[in-house]
Amino acid sequence: MKAALLKAPRTFEIVERPLPQIAADEVLVKVAYCGVCTSEVDTWSGRGEADDFPRFPGHEISGIIEQVGAQVANLNIGDTVGVWIPEGGYAEYVAAKPEDCVRVEDVPLEQVLLEPLSCAINAVEQANISLGDDVLIIGAGFMGNLVQKLVHLQGPRQVIVADIRADALATAKQLGATHTINLKSDDIVETVQGLTSRRGTDVSFEVTGVQAPLLFLGDVTRMSGKIVLVGYHQGGTRTLPLGQWNYMAFQLVNAHFRELARIRAGMQMAMRLLTSHQLHLDELITHYYKLDAIQEAFTASHEKPEGFVKAVIRM
Ligand SMILES: [Zn+2]
Repeated sequence: MKAALLKAPRTFEIVERPLPQIAADEVLVKVAYCGVCTSEVDTWSGRGEADDFPRFPGHEISGIIEQVGAQVANLNIGDTVGVWIPEGGYAEYVAAKPEDCVRVEDVPLEQVLLEPLSCAINAVEQANISLGDDVLIIGAGFMGNLVQKLVHLQGPRQVIVADIRADALATAKQLGATHTINLKSDDIVETVQGLTSRRGTDVSFEVTGVQAPLLFLGDVTRMSGKIVLVGYHQGGTRTLPLGQWNYMAFQLVNAHFRELARIRAGMQMAMRLLTSHQLHLDELITHYYKLDAIQEAFTASHEKPEGFVKAVIRM
């Protein structure tokens, strides 16, 4: 079968690999789509830390079950599933444990991006937003958009979204943001303080993974409010104004999850929201590529051309 091998930074090669041999407690999935994840784009661009090459990336998978191991009881050949495996998803087939597969009903397969949805769901759950809260989301990329969609389901008063890209802010507005702030031209501290009667936000999400917002989050969040770190902080040490954060008695939420049980629970919740049509990703999947064009998919995900939100590889 064909699979995409990341040989070195910015260098993919499509190679032939043997078809995965499944164990008795696994299923073989014919991959339909695999989403391009920002964490992989960091690795691809050389920004990731301690990333080994060569490697087979890809973990946001959907597809159809083609073989079922003898011990697998709850899945059948022909079932459509969303799948999370740590790597190897840019391939024609993957082997997966049933626990890492969620059956799909009545949802377009390209929208079944269960791993990023699980991350966003777990982050918003952990933030424990109250009805009528004022919420700030810094970063209006795909993950920021997912967090925003979920925040709207929690009944906030204001959802303020900040980013440096005008087109990303237009998307945030379309998704229902009450206010948008362009970090290049607007004064975020003045704007947020003005919008919250100089109180600050109840909950501030950082969804960028870069240094800059860490320095002003404390100036826009209310005393004893929550700062939720969703961004993936790869590449270098970060500086935090810990004295201010400590004095302001912020509740700090590190919304990065590693336990499999938590990721799997988030995937199940994602499918419940997708199937109930309370959540859809229609406007967020903006770029489709074939496996042979994976290099272009990663270049676009890195450079974010006008209107770009999320790329998926269509097998
Ligand atoms: Zn991902």
